[in-house]
Amino acid sequence: MSHGFDTLQIHAGAQPDPATGARQTPIYQTTAYVFRDADHAAALFNLQEVGFIYSRLTNPTVAVLQERIATLEGGAGAVCCSSGHAAQIMALFPLMQPGCNIVASTRLYGGTVTQFSQTIKRFGWSATFVDFDDTDAVKAAIDENTRAVFCESVANPGGYITDLDAISAISNDAGVPLIVDNTSATPYLCRPFEHGASLVVHSTTKYLTGNGTVTGGVVVDSGTFDWSASDKFPSLSQPEPAYHGLKFHETFGPLAFTFHGIAVGLRDLGMTMNPQGAHYTLMGIETLSLRMQRHVENAQKVAAWLEADDRIESVTYAGLPSSPYYDRVEKICPKGAGGLFTFAVKGGYEACIKLVNALEIFSHVANLGDTRSLIIHSASTTHRQLSPEQQKAAGAEPNMVRVSIGIEDADDLIADLDQALTQATA
Ligand SMILES: *Cc1c(COP(=O)(O)O)cnc(C)c1O
Repeated sequence: MSHGFDTLQIHAGAQPDPATGARQTPIYQTTAYVFRDADHAAALFNLQEVGFIYSRLTNPTVAVLQERIATLEGGAGAVCCSSGHAAQIMALFPLMQPGCNIVASTRLYGGTVTQFSQTIKRFGWSATFVDFDDTDAVKAAIDENTRAVFCESVANPGGYITDLDAISAISNDAGVPLIVDNTSATPYLCRPFEHGASLVVHSTTKYLTGNGTVTGGVVVDSGTFDWSASDKFPSLSQPEPAYHGLKFHETFGPLAFTFHGIAVGLRDLGMTMNPQGAHYTLMGIETLSLRMQRHVENAQKVAAWLEADDRIESVTYAGLPSSPYYDRVEKICPKGAGGLFTFAVKGGYEACIKLVNALEIFSHVANLGDTRSLIIHSASTTHRQLSPEQQKAAGAEPNMVRVSIGIEDADDLIADLDQALTQATA
C-alpha cells in the first residue's frame, strides 16, 4: 500500500508499542538489550540476525526515525547520526581510503567547506571544489581517485538550486555516487533519488526537527548504486575482516550501505544519535509538510518585498522570477524554493551589522530551519574562516545577510525588516 507524504510523515516506521500499546513512539532510554540466550547473542554479533545489541549501534526510537526518513526520501535505508557533520563523515567513510578525493560544489554550508577543505585531509582524503553550474568543470574534476560527488539540492547560503539530473548523469558515467545534502530542501520539497542521486545526507538539526531543539544527522541510501561494479569500493564489495570475511554488498544487496553504516560506521566511529534526540525529531517530522508550505509562502512574500525595496541591492531567492535558478525550481523542487536566501544591503558590511542588531523578531543565530525567523551575517560568522574568493564563490560576500524565514505572520516579518533597515541605512 502506498501512502501520501502527509500520511507517511506521521506513520512511516512506527506502530503502537508492542509491549504497552503506547500510541506515540516511546523513548527507549536504554543502553543495552537482554539476549534471549547465548545463541541469540552470537547470531546478532555475526549479523546473521537483525536485532538490538547496544545503543551505540541501534535503538528502537532511533530506528523508527531512520525508517521514517528513509521512507520520506524514497530510499532503502537510513542511519541516524549525532549531527549533520557526523552524517557527512559517515556517508564518506565507506567510500574513501587514503589518497581518495571527492568533487564538491563551491556552494555549500560554510562548515562543510571547512570540513572538506581542511579536516578530511587528516584522513588522507581531499576535496576538489568546482562550480556545479559548470558541468564541464565537474566532469573534468573527476579523476581515477574520485569516490563521490557532493552538493546541496537547495544550496547554502543563497538558496541556489543545483541541477541534480545533470550532475548525477556525470557521476553515474564516472561510476561514483552522487551524495546530496538535502537539508535546506527536505524530502517534502526535493527528492534527490528521483534525480539520480545515490545517497542523501541531512542535518536533522534543521527543518526535519524544525524547532531548534536538537542536533542530529542522517545518511539515507537509495539502495540502487552498484558497489561491486568496480574495485573502487572495497569496504562494501570485498571481504570485511572484522566480520569473518563477510562481503556487505553481496550479503545485504540494497541494504549494504546501511548495514555497513551501523555495523562498522557507528560501531567504530560512534557518532550515534541518542533516543531523546530522535524523539524530538520524530515530533518535528510529523508536521514537516505543513511547516514547509508556510516557510515557502513566507519566504516568497518576504523576498518579493525586499526585492522591491530601494535599500536592498539584490535578493537571491530562487522563487523570484529574477533569479537565474527560477527555471530549476519546477524541475528540482516543484513545491517551492525553500525558506533560505540571502540579500545584499546598500551600505555594505556596516549596514549588515546594524541590521542584524536592530531586528526584533528575527534572531541573530548560526542556525536555519527553525519555526522562528533567523538571520546571520555569514561573512563575519559561518563563512568567516573562508578566503574572500571562497566567500564570493559560496555567495557569502560581506554586504550580504542570510535569512531563514520562519512560519510567523509574513506581515510581521516584513514590518520588522522595514524598521531594522531604516536604522541600518540611516
Ligand atoms: C547545519 C548544516 C550542516 C551541518 O549540520 P550539523 O547538524 O550542524 O552538524 C550541514 N549541511 C547543511 C546544509 C546545514 O545547514
